[in-house]
Formats: sequence, structure tokens, C-alpha cells
Amino acid sequence: MITNLDILYRVSLLEGQAMAMLASTTQMCEKARKTHDLSKTATAALGRLLTLSGMTASRMKEGSMTVTVQGDGPIGRMIAVAKPDGTVKGCVDDPQVELPRKNGKLDVGGAVGHEGRLTVVRDMGLKEPYVGQVKLQSGEIGEDMAYYYTVSEQTPSLVSVGVLVKDTVLSAGGLVIQPLPGCSEAALQSLEMTAPLCTNLSDTLLRLGAEETLYDLMGHLQPVILETGKLTYQCDCSRERMERALISLGEKELTSMIGEQDGIEMGCQFCGEKRHFSTADLRALLEAARSRGQQDDGSGE
Ligand SMILES: [Zn+2]
Repeated sequence: MITNLDILYRVSLLEGQAMAMLASTTQMCEKARKTHDLSKTATAALGRLLTLSGMTASRMKEGSMTVTVQGDGPIGRMIAVAKPDGTVKGCVDDPQVELPRKNGKLDVGGAVGHEGRLTVVRDMGLKEPYVGQVKLQSGEIGEDMAYYYTVSEQTPSLVSVGVLVKDTVLSAGGLVIQPLPGCSEAALQSLEMTAPLCTNLSDTLLRLGAEETLYDLMGHLQPVILETGKLTYQCDCSRERMERALISLGEKELTSMIGEQDGIEMGCQFCGEKRHFSTADLRALLEAARSRGQQDDGSGE
């Protein structure tokens, strides 16, 4: 068996008329599965979202990207946060959701729901983040992200994403192909003809490994590897971040927490790490919230 190590390729196609990203994300999806004790269906759903979010964010220069999928299915809300350095984290409301297989495949669309919205927030450190939102197409994530690229970013894209999971994640990955400005009609046709080859991406990755998959699927498109990287499941939470979140709750909320015995315990929704804040800690945060409140009053905004 081929050892399928995580890797992300950025590839130029057809002498610069198009670009592709191919990611193998088996280890990343397995880390997400273990972190949240995800069911098979939830592993596939979140794994797909993390893979495509990480790939998309890898093209940003700085900041972070948050993709939220809110459908009407039993998994509830799904969130993925990705940064240009390849780190991703995410969570779902119901990590245990499991549905009967549909046509032999995990029913991701059924878990996510067919009605709802996919929202992308790109925070690039500017005053206002960029926000794009589209209706869910199928809840299968791949189609929904393709629709987002086409409608919200005006970049029609071929998107394939898959997570093969038995007891653990056996294989996972994503492929995004996008025409670039000035792409000829003939080049567009070549790209379109590639689409049927790209189904069952996780199977192909498992069988061939990432590099062979690249040439197998895109060999006819004169691929040139421009860059390689990697997507990793990693949380960037800290005690300081939680403190800031607590302060932002405000005086009233903090005062009521101080009433509770032994302080409070806060868990991170992305990695599960728990941090304890004693009554004394909370009092200090209340002081911080008070002085911040006064500053806000005085700023005249
Ligand atoms: Zn965390």
C-alpha cells in the first residue's frame, strides 16, 4: 500500500491558462475525527469542509477565512477556520450524527441538509471583512463550494472532494481547478472534459498517492507544479483569547458567573481543551471589563 502523506500542490495548467490545487488531507481529517470523536458521516462532512476551506485559504496572503455551513440537517451548524499557513480547525453541532448510506455512500447531504446557507468570511486585517454567502446546492459541500466560487467569487470552478472513512480515515483530499483570465475556449473545453475523471478522488488518492493522482487526472493539461505545502489540523486557542472572550461578555454576564461556586470551566469548541477560571480570575476580568466600558464611554464613538 502507498503511504499517503498529506500534501498540497499548486499547479499551473495549459501554459498558465488555468490553475489547480490538489490536496491530500488524510492525516488532517483523521485528526479532526479524533479531536471531536466524529461519526463516519460527520467525519466526511467536516473533512470535506476543512479540506476545501484550507485549500482556499492557502491562496490568501494573510488573515483567516471562516466558512460556516448552516443547513437544515441533523448535523446542525458546521464551521471551518483556515489560515494561509495551512492550519485549519473546525467543529460541528452534532459530531455523532449517523445516517443510513445512500447509494453506497455516506449521506453527507442528508446530514447537512439541502436547504440552508454557506457563508465565507475572509478577514484580511482590514476594517471590514469580506463576506460572501450562497444558498446550499446539495449539502454535499463540494457542489456548495463550487457554487460559492462561481457566484460569489465569479470564478467557475471544478471541485472534487472526498473522505473515505472506515473506522479511521483511510484517504481524503480535494481538487479545485479554475480557469484564469484570458483562458481560451479550447482550454475551457479541456478543463470541462476533465470533470468526469475527478469523481471518487479519495479512492484515486488511496490507490495512487497524491503525486501520481495529479498526473493521472491532469496529465493531459500540461501540469507544472508551482508550489507544495500542507494542510494541518491545529487549534490556536489560548488562555488569553478566552480571557478576551469573557471580557467581551460584559459586566452583567461576568457578575453572574462570579456568583457560581469555584469559578467556571471553559472548553474550546475546536480542540476540546478545557481551561478553568477561578472566582478570583473572574473578578480580575470583571475589573478589566469595567475599565474597558469606561474607555468605550469616553471615546465618543
Ligand atoms: Zn482550541
